Amino acid sequence: MRGRLVVGNWKMNGGLRANAMLLEALVADWQVSPGRAIAVCVPFPYLGQAQAALRGTDVAWGAQNVNEHSAGAFTGEVAVSMLADFACRYAIVGHSERRQLYRETDAVVAAKAKAVLAADMTPIVCVGETLAEREAGTMEQVVLRQLDAVLAAVGRDAERMVVAYEPVWAIGTGLTATPEQAQAMHATLRGRLRSANAAEIALLYGGSVKVDNAGALFAMTDIDGGLIGGASLKAGEFLAIAGV
Ligand code: PEP
Repeated sequence: MRGRLVVGNWKMNGGLRANAMLLEALVADWQVSPGRAIAVCVPFPYLGQAQAALRGTDVAWGAQNVNEHSAGAFTGEVAVSMLADFACRYAIVGHSERRQLYRETDAVVAAKAKAVLAADMTPIVCVGETLAEREAGTMEQVVLRQLDAVLAAVGRDAERMVVAYEPVWAIGTGLTATPEQAQAMHATLRGRLRSANAAEIALLYGGSVKVDNAGALFAMTDIDGGLIGGASLKAGEFLAIAGV
């Protein structure tokens, strides 16, 4: 459902001591208000720590990836049932770092989204174009291809997912899509979601979101919140973004 949602993607950062301080600060300082929600997606080994620190609070938690298979000989992988054991609400799927560094295809991302939904969790499905694709003018085609693969796999359950538009060229680079560029892509995505009866899901923007650009981005009609990487590692900064 639409509403302001700001999710931290810690990526491969953290440690028990630093996490404890960050989680404690989020719980202490998050000013809950109607229609606003926050969550953190932490590395797998810290899901238990996140669960213990956040259970019963207004801060949700989740994972940054999951395997599409339910169990078996997949050394080093993690199944959705394992995320469920830690009461995760969210699992990011299809982050561009996974698509690029670990060669995750549209089909694999779609299977992951389907597996997460089947376990009654919410996939945060990431889509986004590279700089070369934007410069070639194929960005909409690329992003819709990524979304369509997921929509075809999940069917009516699309209304239970979250989608994050993250232009690859804006992730961790300090470059941000202008609010107008982001809104244009969000409107395209919303249009496609409407034809899948899922127009009311939360559509997040991600890519070098900071306190000073979050306000302008989140003011756009089709931007419901953000997926925040680097700036989610500092409680003050993350909460300031969530509070704009
Ligand atoms: C991300 O990893 O999803 C992300 C948006 O990172 P950053 O905010 O650091 O660009």
